[in-house]
Amino acid sequence: MRSTRSSAAEQQVRRHRPSSARARAAAGCRCQIELTTDLNLAALVRHADPESVHNTTMRTAKPLPHWETGPVTLMGDAIHTMIPAGSSAGTALRDAALLCRRITARTGSLRDAVHAYETEMLDYGFAMVERSLRSAS
Ligand SMILES: Cc1cc2nc3c(=O)[nH]c(=O)nc-3n(C[C@H](O)[C@H](O)[C@H](O)COP(=O)(O)OP(=O)(O)OC[C@H]3O[C@@H](n4cnc5c(N)ncnc54)[C@H](O)[C@@H]3O)c2cc1C
Repeated sequence: MRSTRSSAAEQQVRRHRPSSARARAAAGCRCQIELTTDLNLAALVRHADPESVHNTTMRTAKPLPHWETGPVTLMGDAIHTMIPAGSSAGTALRDAALLCRRITARTGSLRDAVHAYETEMLDYGFAMVERSLRSAS
């Protein structure tokens, strides 16, 4: 039987659930933070606007050995797609910054600079993939 008394988390959600969709979206962040401290995610889902929820498939990359450096390289999700755990976009930006540094600071050939980028990126990129898998399980 369902209890008629609502939990503290549910009351918290209602308090932070303004009537308009725009205001609800603005309050969403604050509400989510308070609820996560209460760990009542079921209440968060129950009170969410169903139209704002949709399914999506999560994919994760498998570690690759380094390939022969050529005129095309990879960065971001194109090489190390991971389950979103708050660091995928940051890792893509880290790739871009690293590749830029390796190219602009190079003393040897362009190919060597790209090779240096690729070996470094594969290391931390797949370490992040591994970390995101651990955090999802
Ligand atoms: C549901 C979801 C939630 C996420 N949440 C987070 C999060 O909270 N924090 C976080 O850090 N990351 C999150 N991510 C992951 C994050 O979005 C990606 O890691 C990040 O966008 C990767 O950037 P990218 O530049 O490598 O790829 P993308 O952002 O995918 O950019 C690739 C671009 O290339 C374009 N493109 C593709 N093919 C072609 C083509 N043939 N010609 C021209 N253009 C093309 C695409 O349209 C796209 O604009 C989330 C991802 C998903 C799906």
